[in-house]
Amino acid sequence: LIRLDGVNKWFGPLHVLQDVNLSVSRGEVVVVIGPSGSGKSTLCRAINRLESINSGTIVFDGQPLPAEGRPLARLRSDVGMVFQSFNLFAHKTILENVTLGPIKVRKEKPESAKKRALELLDRVGIASQADKFPAQLSGGQQQRAAIARALAMQPKAMLFDEPTSALDPEMVGEVLEVMTSLAKDGMTMVVVTHEMGFARHAANRVIFMADGQLVEDAPPAEFFANPRSERAKDFLSKIL
Ligand code: ATP
Ligand code: MG
Repeated sequence: LIRLDGVNKWFGPLHVLQDVNLSVSRGEVVVVIGPSGSGKSTLCRAINRLESINSGTIVFDGQPLPAEGRPLARLRSDVGMVFQSFNLFAHKTILENVTLGPIKVRKEKPESAKKRALELLDRVGIASQADKFPAQLSGGQQQRAAIARALAMQPKAMLFDEPTSALDPEMVGEVLEVMTSLAKDGMTMVVVTHEMGFARHAANRVIFMADGQLVEDAPPAEFFANPRSERAKDFLSKIL
């Protein structure tokens, strides 16, 4: 579903993605870990073209990534993204946050968009919060709303960039639970996270990035039991 071939990205002199090759099949859950500044966010952002690349190719669902216009809008609804900071619209209710994209971008009828939004909010466990504003919700509830909002666009894949890093510890579990259930339902997911429990239990593959390179790519059991590179060993010894 997602394929990167020889992808390079520079920020000025900084080579943040170095000849990255990666393919993610339909239904696969790939967890990306690595030290700060290794290029994890840039990798995610490149996949839905929030960031351009300098060379190489990225193909999504058989098509090279579009640069602009309608095809780009299409890509953005096909690839849902959830960030560390929930990025909800502060002056809109939770329900409006979830229905806005489907109505504006997907041209759905307000009534059917609302019905599906309520189903999605129910699925992430916050149906009772539908008419509140983001600031009235806890961080965990806001992040679950952000996930519902991305799902409302009926994405083919979901990218998560440290979705639980900004949360108080007691709210991390509820968000991971929603993500685990999405994974079980067969959603294709690329997840940047420091939650090694999630990596162990929900991922099909763990990718370790360092200095813009994909250093390791292995099933979680193998990666955690037997990291091959010194850098991965060093990283794991610091976080586990
Ligand atoms: P973290 O774990 O801290 O989120 P990361 O692995 O997500 O780190 P990136 O955010 O992808 O790392 O950044 C990779 C490198 O690119 C870093 O050195 C960062 O400072 C640099 N960088 C990121 N965005 C920009 C930008 N817009 N302009 C210049 N440099 C950038
Ligand atoms: Mg990052």
